[in-house]
Amino acid sequence: MDFEHDLRASVRTIPDYPKPGILFRDITTLLGDARAFRRAVDQLVHPWAGSKIDKVAGIEARGFILGGAVAHQVSAGFVPIRKKGKLPHTTVRIAYSLEYGIDEMEMHADAIHPKERVILVDDLIATGGTAEAAVKLLRQIGANVVAACFIIDLPDLGGAAKLRAMEVPVRTLMAFDGH
Ligand code: AMP
Repeated sequence: MDFEHDLRASVRTIPDYPKPGILFRDITTLLGDARAFRRAVDQLVHPWAGSKIDKVAGIEARGFILGGAVAHQVSAGFVPIRKKGKLPHTTVRIAYSLEYGIDEMEMHADAIHPKERVILVDDLIATGGTAEAAVKLLRQIGANVVAACFIIDLPDLGGAAKLRAMEVPVRTLMAFDGH
């Protein structure tokens, strides 16, 4: 399909960044291409176009750019999920594992009301550790996580399968082999 080809071609791959062996999938080239950016946002939310979404939660930092656009598109509010220590008001927090050590992410405790319908957005899902923690955080404050949307899936790393096992429908627009 042309659309898939265009969108895929708009992602730039940088070998050995941030360290040897990693193929970094750079979406700044997609964001900088007006047609690709619009199509990506339209396609990400396509399955939920007719349904009511209360909030879109975006994961820092690339999830903010996409999530803001997605929220606008579905007439929802936007909620940032941030690295710890960045949000000024009362937060809820969750720890999650990184390749080396652990990190923590936070959101404002009053950002989402119980049972609100929420779509989670980030640019890419790899092992799913980041998104899994975000889903747990959202559920901790009572959110109904309707879906998780990513432009890029790295299926060999199993992240999308991990989220589906948590009964979160996952939407991705393209997949790349390897990591
Ligand atoms: P994970 O928690 O393993 O699913 O990693 C997902 C997070 O790491 C996302 O916020 C991505 O932006 C980033 N990430 C992981 N692998 C890559 C990659 N190969 N290229 C670009 N970003 C990546």
